[in-house]
Amino acid sequence: TKKFILEKTFENMPKESDLKLVEEELPEIREGQFLTEAVYLSVDPYMRAYVHKLREGDTMIGYQVAKIIQSKHKEFPINKYVIGDFGWQTHSISNGINTSGDMLPYPSLIPDIGSLPLSLTLGILGTTGNTAYFGLLEICKPTAGETVVVSAAGGAIGSHVGQIAKLKGCRVIGITGSDQKCIWLKSIGFDEVINYNNHSWRNCLMEAVPRGVDCYFDNVGGEISSIVIQHMTRYGRVAVCGSISSYNCDIRHLPKATIIQPWIVFHQLEIRGFVNANWNSRWNEGIKQNLYWIKEGKIHYKETITEGFENMPKAFIDLLNGKNLGKAIVKVK
Ligand code: NDP
Repeated sequence: TKKFILEKTFENMPKESDLKLVEEELPEIREGQFLTEAVYLSVDPYMRAYVHKLREGDTMIGYQVAKIIQSKHKEFPINKYVIGDFGWQTHSISNGINTSGDMLPYPSLIPDIGSLPLSLTLGILGTTGNTAYFGLLEICKPTAGETVVVSAAGGAIGSHVGQIAKLKGCRVIGITGSDQKCIWLKSIGFDEVINYNNHSWRNCLMEAVPRGVDCYFDNVGGEISSIVIQHMTRYGRVAVCGSISSYNCDIRHLPKATIIQPWIVFHQLEIRGFVNANWNSRWNEGIKQNLYWIKEGKIHYKETITEGFENMPKAFIDLLNGKNLGKAIVKVK
């Protein structure tokens, strides 16, 4: 197998040289095991956030869609496709048990998604899709006529959250980092999209939410979120999904924070963090609903696909630099 190991713990923005491609012989599979070959690898922000759990020399963590090429496991037969927590590697041996400890229902055979691309099972028909679906509906609980703001709106989760909120009859404002993302988000139904790299973005936000923000789906944290929270209405709900603005920061030197507590108190805000695995018992419900919306043409998606396993570090660094539109994926060959 070929795999990427953590050569050097990341400092601030990861560098390609922090990761090393190595080759390793795999043993023969034993009874109760199967051997897979990676087809698509998921590229995700949590790989940066959770890197402190790895030691130098460990294989990088991550999910992938893989083909089963040998099997001595009844539930994972040869030639089927599986989603697994196999890390950044081309070939893996599994006994069908999740080793990442995150409680997601993987490894599992991919669900039936008809003729849609298998890569979607790592995104809109998998973890990011379910994070958007459950995070928005169960934590923000938006109702028709409310104003919903979503950050990292041009990414996998953000673009999906905004569209679900539109389906629920909300007014939706996205915040993202490039004009290209703004144009796409407008084309799929966002009412307003704000580029936070535009120096007047704070004023644009104020003008876009004349009645205040009822729900904020927060993917980024930091200063962007502090500003949004200052515009929330009474009893506003914040679903804290991620905090990507700080993933590259050294926690000993975090930027000075804007005080948001007065808004939390006086507007009686509900701010709740969550992880998608909370809903693992309802996992298929989310996939079914998202599949239905895609087939009905009600939800649109984009994938940014980088070709070649060896380009995994580049795709990962591109994601952290905001170069992806929609879900970031690496196609192995
Ligand atoms: P995205 O596809 O949204 O990619 C990340 C995006 O974040 C980039 O494209 C970039 O877009 C934006 N970004 C990067 N750096 C910054 C920064 N410093 N400030 C503001 N925006 C930044 O990834 P996902 O949709 O997979 O994930 C979105 C968030 O959800 C992440 O925070 C992730 O950790 C979290 N997450 C949480 C889960 C949970 O269970 N709670 C599960 C999965 C993901 P832009 O051009 O807009 O800057």
